[in-house]
Amino acid sequence: MELTFLGTGAAFSASAYNASILIDRSILLDAGAPLAVHLPKAGLSLDAPRSVLLSHFHADHTFGLAALMLGRVLANENAPSLKVFGPVGTTDYLQRLLDLAWGEDMRRLAWDRLELGVTELQGSDRFEVEGSQATAFRMRHSSRLNCLGFVIERDGVRLGYTGDAELSPELEALVSAADHLITEMTYDAEAGAMHLARRDVQSLMQRHPDTRFIITHRASDNGAVSGALMARDFETVTLPLR
Ligand SMILES: [Zn+2]
Repeated sequence: MELTFLGTGAAFSASAYNASILIDRSILLDAGAPLAVHLPKAGLSLDAPRSVLLSHFHADHTFGLAALMLGRVLANENAPSLKVFGPVGTTDYLQRLLDLAWGEDMRRLAWDRLELGVTELQGSDRFEVEGSQATAFRMRHSSRLNCLGFVIERDGVRLGYTGDAELSPELEALVSAADHLITEMTYDAEAGAMHLARRDVQSLMQRHPDTRFIITHRASDNGAVSGALMARDFETVTLPLR
């Protein structure tokens, strides 16, 4: 399994782009990065992502979709279809996002040409994405939003992704179900609400010693976490880690 990190910064990072990770050049985990720039910069076309998994509806995880969706159909009349998996409300959210970004006519054009397929998920839902089995986990992040994490089983790897999360029993279950985990670590020094801090990630690592940790979604960079891989923008990582 190959991971391409298109954005590894938290919402207001001054040094890294917003959240987006591409699995095997075909499955996007979140879409916060400026994908119309970052996919080509990573050597890929806007046609590459076939499925997008959205963890929640914050701008730093979703706003890259507007340019990806319309840019793809304008660049290629025969653009491949696109599937989006996300929390309950994803269809409505995407409609509003595209309406705001480009207006109703362009929203319809992009939606139709992409034959957009939207699957709305709740915690514990099992689904299939690009030939791989996956599970959604309800995450605790924003009380006003449905927030999900995911585990995808692919090429013998059980890859977990927290999206944005606080410590919770559901997060522990997600980590237990994964042998590799892409986790957010928004706070380096002090702990804060809505997100994981360095000490939270270290405690997760202690409770789940058999899981390999890959850290992303950082607001600042105060150095590595011992035993974990610190992801960087445009880095490509092959799993399983050695
Ligand atoms: Zn975020």
